[in-house]
Amino acid sequence: MQNNQVALVTGANQGIGLQIAKDLTAQGLTVLIGSRNFERGEAAAGELGPNAVALQLDVTDQASISNAAERIRKEFGRLDVLIQNAAITTTGDHHAQTPQEFVAANRPSVVSLDEMRAVWETNVFGVLAVYQAMLPILRDTPNSRIVNVSSGAGSLTLASDRNSPMHGSFDATYAASKTALNGLTVAMAIELEGDGIKVNAVSPGYTKTRMSPGGTDTVEDGAAEAVRVALLGSEGPTGMFTHATFGTIPW
Ligand code: NAP
Repeated sequence: MQNNQVALVTGANQGIGLQIAKDLTAQGLTVLIGSRNFERGEAAAGELGPNAVALQLDVTDQASISNAAERIRKEFGRLDVLIQNAAITTTGDHHAQTPQEFVAANRPSVVSLDEMRAVWETNVFGVLAVYQAMLPILRDTPNSRIVNVSSGAGSLTLASDRNSPMHGSFDATYAASKTALNGLTVAMAIELEGDGIKVNAVSPGYTKTRMSPGGTDTVEDGAAEAVRVALLGSEGPTGMFTHATFGTIPW
């Protein structure tokens, strides 16, 4: 078994996931760079140095997930941290619509069911499939923990508050997928209470990446809370939803 702690970050070949991976390697962890395109994962791992290892992982492909779990078990023998970061807002071009156009096209009355299913396949069912595949290894690793990268956009409390900016932007596709992810986070935290495995959701905030070209925060800011929660010890909380500077976010 590998001596270093091992972390898997899904969707780590770019954006917030890549920064989370960078920060965790700097803390001395071995980080598996989950990437649906292996070459892009290898390029990202090359940037981060010897503590980063590319791992082919498409969260919508059960064979890819099973192979990744098998490789982790065989090559590393442990999984201390699972960061579920991979997500999409659309199957199309991220830059084709303004945020306002995106919300309008994703209202419940008009949203394409195929588009919504595709986004939920990645953001919700993909997270569950990776959870199920990795759980046996997490259970065999003392003090392991899971961080689900959610969004304040998924908060039902904020979406229901007419004075919140989240109210008008709550769409059926992306925002509601993060609400569903929050539900899964609570269900996972409850399931794993007896095992001592912590499961928390974090919000990166509005971060400039391919997903959010207008983001006002840097990737360093966006990664900070996931990294903090990933490094909490056995006394850390479970079943929380937090942001680096806003603190606890209401579900
Ligand atoms: P991003 O730059 O678009 O990166 C998303 C990552 O997910 C990419 O590496 C992408 O891989 C990967 N991915 C997508 N589908 C995948 C699949 N089926 N299997 C494996 N990987 C897949 O977005 P980001 O802004 O860094 O977002 C990271 C996380 O933060 C997401 O969960 C997002 O919802 C959340 N978030 C972001 C913001 C923000 O303002 N940016 C705000 C709140 C929450 P490819 O390179 O192959 O496409």
